[in-house]
Amino acid sequence: MQWRYNVPMTNPHTQATAHMLNGRVVADHLINALAEVTEAHVAQGRSRPGLAVVLVGDDPASEVYVGHKIRACERVGIRSLAHRLPASVTEEALLSLIDELNQDEGVAGILVQLPLPEGINAAAVTRRISPSKDVDGFHPTNMGLLAQRTPAIRPCTPRGVITLLNYYRLDPKGQEALVVGASNIVGRPLMLELLLAGATVTIAHRFTRDLKKHVGRAGILCVAVGRADLIDPDWIAPGTVVVDIGIHRDEDGRLRGDLDFERARQKASWITPVPGGVGPMTVATLLQNTLQAAGIIPADFALKATHHNA
Ligand code: NAD
Repeated sequence: MQWRYNVPMTNPHTQATAHMLNGRVVADHLINALAEVTEAHVAQGRSRPGLAVVLVGDDPASEVYVGHKIRACERVGIRSLAHRLPASVTEEALLSLIDELNQDEGVAGILVQLPLPEGINAAAVTRRISPSKDVDGFHPTNMGLLAQRTPAIRPCTPRGVITLLNYYRLDPKGQEALVVGASNIVGRPLMLELLLAGATVTIAHRFTRDLKKHVGRAGILCVAVGRADLIDPDWIAPGTVVVDIGIHRDEDGRLRGDLDFERARQKASWITPVPGGVGPMTVATLLQNTLQAAGIIPADFALKATHHNA
């Protein structure tokens, strides 16, 4: 039997609306916990961990994301080492920078902001990063370890989603989970994370027939497509936990997710807002991965579920 999370009823005369999966709050908790561990580490006379952030070209969205990551490093006490390269840089030059960073003992983690300019093979760049410094978790070794249920460094957004669900005591075990979107950086590793957490996982993509049917069956619905309004909130079964990973701007320039939030929250039991849902979790998880790569926290470091559901 499909088990569903309770639908919160604030007032029997009004329609139910979902509880918030507040990524800002949870990411703050995680960042504070990581800052505490880092300060204790440094207080013992050990060196501060370093994160190399490589930004190629001048894509405005990438600039914003890198800015968030660098500021978050400061909050945790991680040294960020920014490497800005022009869009005209050759793949060879980028690969040799990665070789240097792989050798540099002051660098615990290496992040190459995607997308890369045309002409640079992103897969080759990802593979060049040493798996032990691959804080994005995209290296085939890290993806393979996650697939084999022995995760090492795990992709940030999917791991952040799991941390968020755990914080609110929403256990995916035994649940029907649907992941819409099958990219290498979000959909696929999220499928693996949910599988690892014991969910029965379906993954939908551009060739999926009858998306409506799959959405209606889901107890946990995760959407990472990058297209607004692909999913009609009427398809969502009452009580579904909804995780909206998409980020884009509407005609008025406001940030929004893949779902119509106001309508989806009438059906969901729990829902992530955009902004303020998965985005902050992605950044906080990057810092968690950096401390893990530095050997300061263990692979199974987890934020305690401190939230008490009513
Ligand atoms: P992507 O373009 O690489 O992948 C999109 C996926 O959607 C593909 O697998 C494709 O098959 C699927 N898709 C396309 N049309 C579909 C359809 N009609 N039905 C079902 N599936 C369909 O995108 P991505 O890099 O995975 O990013 C997805 C979204 O998530 C974007 O909006 C991106 O900005 C956002 N994102 C957010 C975070 C975060 O931290 N919140 C992190 C990464 C990406």
